[in-house]
Amino acid sequence: MRKRELELLLSTIPPHPSPKLELEQYATPVHLASRLLWVAAFSFHDLPAQIVTDLGAGTGRLGIGAALMGSEYVLLVELDREALKVAIEAARRLGVDARVDAVCADVRFLTLSRRARCALQNPPFGVHGRGADVAFLAAALRLAERVYSVHKAETIRYVLEKCREKGAEAALLFEDVVRLPPTMPHHHKREHRVRVVVVRAAPFSS
Ligand code: SAH
Repeated sequence: MRKRELELLLSTIPPHPSPKLELEQYATPVHLASRLLWVAAFSFHDLPAQIVTDLGAGTGRLGIGAALMGSEYVLLVELDREALKVAIEAARRLGVDARVDAVCADVRFLTLSRRARCALQNPPFGVHGRGADVAFLAAALRLAERVYSVHKAETIRYVLEKCREKGAEAALLFEDVVRLPPTMPHHHKREHRVRVVVVRAAPFSS
């Protein structure tokens, strides 16, 4: 598959139908999702993989993207049922529903009987629930051997340090800019630009 083709397919996956402020729901922009998937596949050969999990999957752009790239089994984990419905419908429409499963669960309390090869996540940045980003990192490192995670650029040092504390080696892969809906009362614009970073982490032992 060409990168442009992946972008076109991902752009058919709708964003959250009714985003909830407290869950910091926004769809991973297509350019960011496809770049993350591309780097995981062609710089690190972590994708396609046998088992992939997409944590805080929303409408599933990252996980469905991993399935489109040939991963054998993708598990979407998301608290919001409405978003998952959109994801499941998108997986069906794109012909990968046989390889994409969804579970409505809180990532912090989830366990899997087998570790995934790869976890992909664009977690809440912790604007509303402080520490959500770190809780997602901890869950991802527990559930998978490789973690690709999106964070606010200004938190990069903290994120790398947290990974090390949790026994993982982490590296910054690239920076990007996303447009987020207003998340604070003082945000008057309809959207604001936020610099983000994508990090790859792997437990020292694997
Ligand atoms: N990657 C997604 C959306 C990222 S927004 C996409 O591309 O659409 C972060 C997502 O994490 C939201 O959908 C939110 O509902 C979900 N979320 C927040 N806290 C969660 C938790 N504790 N467990 C599972 N999902 C959670």
